[in-house]
Amino acid sequence: MTREALAAESAPARRGALCCRCKRWTYAPVEVGYIERQSGPGVVLWGCPSQPWP
Ligand SMILES: [Zn+2]
Repeated sequence: MTREALAAESAPARRGALCCRCKRWTYAPVEVGYIERQSGPGVVLWGCPSQPWP
């Protein structure tokens, strides 16, 4: 893994993230969930800041 990729993965809020709900790019993502993986580090789910979450 490259240094840039590692930085991007650990700090997605800097450049934005793909909303896991509407699949649109948001530059102010909020953490809405977390998926644990057996084969590596978990994945954070991001969502739009303006949308209400259940
Ligand atoms: Zn969204």
